[in-house]
Amino acid sequence: KPKVLEVKNLRTTFRSNKKSFNAVDEISFHINEGETLGIVGESGCGKSVTSLSIMGLIKPPGEVNGDQVTFQDMDLLSLNKRKMRKIRGNQISMIFQEPMTSLNPVYRIGDQIGESIRIHEKVKGTKLKKRVVDLLKLVGIPRPEEIYANYPHQLSGGMSQRVMIAIAMACNPDLIIADEPTTALDVTIQAQILELMKSIQEERGMSIMLITHDLGVVSEVCDRMLVMYAGKIVESGIVEDVLKNPQHPYTKGLLDSLPKKGVDKERLNYIPGQVPSPLNWGVGCRFADRCSHAMVKCHEQIPSLIEIGNEQQAACWLVEEGGELDDVSKGKDT
Ligand code: SF4
Ligand code: MG
Repeated sequence: KPKVLEVKNLRTTFRSNKKSFNAVDEISFHINEGETLGIVGESGCGKSVTSLSIMGLIKPPGEVNGDQVTFQDMDLLSLNKRKMRKIRGNQISMIFQEPMTSLNPVYRIGDQIGESIRIHEKVKGTKLKKRVVDLLKLVGIPRPEEIYANYPHQLSGGMSQRVMIAIAMACNPDLIIADEPTTALDVTIQAQILELMKSIQEERGMSIMLITHDLGVVSEVCDRMLVMYAGKIVESGIVEDVLKNPQHPYTKGLLDSLPKKGVDKERLNYIPGQVPSPLNWGVGCRFADRCSHAMVKCHEQIPSLIEIGNEQQAACWLVEEGGELDDVSKGKDT
């Protein structure tokens, strides 16, 4: 399948008290046409920074570098602001976590959706209104003519997120980047929104990059996934393979900390410790302080991603040496 986005050695640098650090540190990945790629990790792992970097939304003194960020045939890293604005919302659009804060409280819903069409296309009057109503229908909003005239505060969280999806779909993008799109919603609404995104994707064929901390969401809707930790990709592959047969101790840890049927919450295996601050990454594996498998080498040298087969890759010395992960939770208090 052709690739819609290809990222090579992306690096996003910020400065804190004169010290600079890479919040995203040399990551490479791609998204195929029509596919949903999940990016998973705890907060602070660099997943949101990755999406903002691709969209050209990192503000100076933050700096984005890399060998390549190719979207279709365009090198996004070399585009000027005006060209990048043209692509945003038109060919690539974004959906964020908090629909309420992304909508402008003083404009009617219909006008906001209409505006996002008008930025990129010369449509107005009844033609524009029809486009908006069609979008409201597409995202499953009942009584679209009535909702058109509503203000954001009149809508529920789930409805607002549907409106955000309508705005994201306004110009028929080829890629949607969704950053925790359902995290603020309750479980039932969350399922409905994911279902909606899936069905629009089937109809329109766009690619989705879905950023989430929730492996459950990934297993529901994604085709392939990346696991990020401390600015790096530590594992990637087809969702089924990674979830059935995780190779990196961090991925295994995330899976072990998922609630399971018949196991009460107090007994879940949380991964002890925290994601290290980018200012304290050191030279070794960035997961070493939390890993029950850490060896001397792990503290001295950072492992690179290696191919395991069938598109699955992991960055871990244990994997490189052909070790087994079966006993990953041993030594932890279970
Ligand atoms: Fe654990 Fe070492 Fe693998 Fe890092 S490289 S995940 S510390 S075993
Ligand atoms: Mg985030």
